[in-house]
Order: sequence, then structure tokens, then C-alpha cells
Amino acid sequence: MKRKGILVVVSGFSGAGKGTLMEQLLKTYDNYSLSISMTTRAPRPKEREGREYFFVTKESFEKEIKQDGLIEYATYCENYYGTPRKYVEEQLNRGKDIILEIEIQGALKIKEKFPTALLLFVMPPSAKELEKRLTKRGTETPEVIEKRLRRAVEEAQGIEKYDFIIVNDDLESCTRRLHNLITAAHNAPIRNEEFIENMRQELNALVKGEK
Ligand code: 5GP
Repeated sequence: MKRKGILVVVSGFSGAGKGTLMEQLLKTYDNYSLSISMTTRAPRPKEREGREYFFVTKESFEKEIKQDGLIEYATYCENYYGTPRKYVEEQLNRGKDIILEIEIQGALKIKEKFPTALLLFVMPPSAKELEKRLTKRGTETPEVIEKRLRRAVEEAQGIEKYDFIIVNDDLESCTRRLHNLITAAHNAPIRNEEFIENMRQELNALVKGEK
């Protein structure tokens, strides 16, 4: 049975530690590729073009939308964010599991377009811890932090639409749980329709041959 790549969507409140978790996942296991999004947000001091994001102007982003170059996009705290199509398709064809670290509107669009996508939501151990992590990161102004916390309140309404939640308490055990979930998801019937159908046909042929 040929292993096909699956689309893994990882969402979570800003400050939940998704970025670090993804970094650890990619470092520890070699069957994952991370999609790099396009955004109109300004780069943070340590971010590099083409590593965390492709940083573009609003005009370039809108051109990309028109040319159908994005598999999904959304606005988040007044900026555009979107997933470039080409890389995702290439990695899936190579059998890689591709991780999209995106917010909830985009996640739901992906589920509509790709029903076999796996949707995971990373949660902090508590709301207080989230505020602490956002403040500690030190890259956002108090005003932006407040906007992101408000957005977390909105996103919390949609968590039931995800397949699994992952509580980010300890980085290493969280990475392992994430990897185990994705590995297990490969065996769900919804992701093995072709194999199941072949098995049915073979069984039918066997039964007929015995008559
Ligand atoms: P940040 O500005 O903190 O890097 O990202 C803000 C939010 O945008 C996060 O929830 C992040 O997961 C989400 N995001 C990043 N890239 C994309 C994307 O390509 N599409 C969508 N829909 N959301 C994204």
C-alpha cells in the first residue's frame, strides 16, 4: 500500500506555541514539509523572507488571489495571510505530510476543499498562560496583544470543528503526541478509500471463484 501524503492543518491561538512546536516536529521526524505562507504583515525582527513567510504588499497578494495561486487565504488582525498552491501540491505528490499552520477561517476552507485534511488545534494549558507567552514574546505592542487575545475569544468558538486538540504543556511530549496523532490518522478509512475498494473487489473475486 503506497503511503500518500496528508494535509495537516494546525491552528491555535496566537502565542499558543505553534511555531516552536512545528519547528520541533520538523527537526525530529523526516516525513513532514511545512508550507510557507504569504502575508502582508510586516516581518518581526528575527523573521526572514522565505523562511517564516513570503512578505508581500497588499497589491501582490491580491494579484496572487486573482491568479488562483493560493489554496486558501484569510484576513487576520487587518492583514492578509494565504497558502501558496504550488508547494502544497508538489509535496503531497511526493508522499510528504504537509503542515499548514493557519488560522481558523483558512482551516475550514481547507476542510471544504480537501475533506481528508486533518485539523488539529493547539491549546495553551490556560488562558493566563497564553497572555504570559504573548507578553513574553515581546514582538507585539500591547495594542496588538489585546487584538490577538480578542481574536482568540472568537477562535475559541470554532474549536469543535477540529479533529483533535493538543495541549501544549511540554514541548517534547507535545511533539510526540502530535506525530502519533498524524501517524494514526493515516489509517483512517477516509484516507484509504482506494485500498478499501481494491480489497472489496479482490474479496468479491475470491468469493465468486470459489463458487
Ligand atoms: P502571525 O502573524 O502570528 O505569524 O500569524 C497570525 C495568524 O495567521 C496565526 O494564527 C497563523 O496560524 C495564521 N496564518 C499564517 N499563515 C496563514 C495562511 O497562509 N493562511 C491563513 N488562513 N492563516 C495563516
